[in-house]
Amino acid sequence: MIKRFFQYYKPHKKLFALDFSSAIVVALLELAFPLAVAWFIDSLLPTGDWNAIVLVSLGLLVMYVSSTFLQFIVNYWGHMLGINIETDMRHQLFHHVQRQSFRFFDNTKTGHIMSRVTNDLMDIGELAHHGPEDLFIAVMTFVGAFWIMLTINVKLAVVAILIVPLLVWLITYCNIRMNKAWKQMYSDIADVNARVEDSVSGVRVVQSFTNEEFEIGRFSKDNKKFRLAKLVAYKVMSFSSSGIYMMTRFFTLVVLVFGAWLSFTGELSYGNLVGFVLYVNVLFKPIDKISALMELYPKGMAGFKRFIELIDMEPEVLDKKDAVEVEYLRGDIKFKDVTFGYENNRPVLQGINLQIPAGETVAFVGPSGAGKTTICSLIPRFYDVNEGSITIDGMDIRELTKKSLRSQIGIVQQDVFLFTGTLRENIAYGRLGATQEEVAEAARRAHLEDFIHSLPDGYETQIGERGLKLSGGQKQRLAIARMFLKNPPILILDEATSALDTETEMIIQKALTELAKNRTTLVIAHRLATIRNADRIVVVTEDGIAEEGGHDELIEQGGIFANLHRVQYQHQ
Ligand code: ADP
Ligand code: MG
Repeated sequence: MIKRFFQYYKPHKKLFALDFSSAIVVALLELAFPLAVAWFIDSLLPTGDWNAIVLVSLGLLVMYVSSTFLQFIVNYWGHMLGINIETDMRHQLFHHVQRQSFRFFDNTKTGHIMSRVTNDLMDIGELAHHGPEDLFIAVMTFVGAFWIMLTINVKLAVVAILIVPLLVWLITYCNIRMNKAWKQMYSDIADVNARVEDSVSGVRVVQSFTNEEFEIGRFSKDNKKFRLAKLVAYKVMSFSSSGIYMMTRFFTLVVLVFGAWLSFTGELSYGNLVGFVLYVNVLFKPIDKISALMELYPKGMAGFKRFIELIDMEPEVLDKKDAVEVEYLRGDIKFKDVTFGYENNRPVLQGINLQIPAGETVAFVGPSGAGKTTICSLIPRFYDVNEGSITIDGMDIRELTKKSLRSQIGIVQQDVFLFTGTLRENIAYGRLGATQEEVAEAARRAHLEDFIHSLPDGYETQIGERGLKLSGGQKQRLAIARMFLKNPPILILDEATSALDTETEMIIQKALTELAKNRTTLVIAHRLATIRNADRIVVVTEDGIAEEGGHDELIEQGGIFANLHRVQYQHQ
């Protein structure tokens, strides 16, 4: 795990080297300073040589200025290193998530991906910067300071070091309590976030039930809980910093008094006493740093573990090594003994055989939950079949690259997903880089043009979050316009007109009929009127394909379809 962590430093080797070496120099200067002061008092002052004093002071000034400059580098470039690593990881994660197959998204909560991309990576970035650097510097300063103190006076050094176990105890105790408090705080803020997201995205439902007070009440409870958790965290934090302050001051005093006694007995010079007191403070710093690391490390590493878990998840549907890039498919689709299930022991489709000649329109009907959508999502390889095979133009779809296969298939669903942005951007999503003329042509063919012209901003109209400002029929036509742009030989219409009123349905039906021309089209339809023009009808039930044939043929057969037909028309 640690090895993999360090791999992310590779592209930023130079920055790391610069940052790390600057940090070492800063630490060395810090170690040298008390020695210089001791020498100043003991050796330089008694000579009374004012010129030398001025010269040495200038030297010390140079030391200070360089140290300040290097500290700036360590702070700024060191954090840059952390941010760079964080950005790389975030890019990799997003790239990886985009490649995942449908099943991954079936089983992963969006919120969890979000927190990986934001919180986890921020913790990792901090650890990446502070982890190795601070650990090294802290150990170096601690050992260095203690060693110098030993050489100055062993007795005093031993007294000074007594504080360490006390400090470590205090810090560890506070850390344990602090971790608990942070954890609670994170969990509580997640609840607050979830509540805000839910209420805001569902605000239309909230207001239509006039449940605002209820929502405010629920939110207020979560908000107060978070306040309490945060207060606990800050209480521990304040206790810890006050405790550390008190201990360090107290020990400085002890060292001062004991050192004074030693200097009376002639064991310690005045300069060394001052130097010693300064070293005591150098000694405390690393302990503080390591205690901060003790908090950072588990947080960052836990985040990194979750990150790696995601990164190691191979997409389920992958291109074969020698997958073929197809330019164009005619659209001869064949299912051969296809068996498929979302979960291992619960097959949804079993032994499906189906043949759809290129250019035909085939309609799928049957009870909801029978597997119509599932059949259609196997064709673009959103999921791979468990057994059997699907071929297009005689080629097994697993032999083709996913990209080229999917470029030949267009899908229009009942709920159209639109992105926040303009009408033009959303239509052009069908073929990135389409010109304004092409977009307008697609809109015209999808019978969307009149609507767009009626808007003051036309194609540049913002459609709101997920197309909130469009009606169901408008969204549907936008989806059809996308398809005209994409122009795929194979088309899947999954209940594309189910949620529409009759009048809108008629316009959209017209657009769809035009769209289906010269394409292999699979239509899943609720309303049987919409499939009258299909070349063939396939009746899907939970037991598989029950009937197959032309419209009139199936009515004559007097089976399931005939029954469905009769029931629907009786009600109208
Ligand atoms: P239809 O389109 O005919 O209404 P579907 O193909 O959507 O039916 O669903 C067929 C069966 O598969 C249903 O029992 C449904 O619950 C199940 N199913 C559909 N999608 C998923 C999924 N992503 N994960 C698990 N089960 C699913
Ligand atoms: Mg369906």
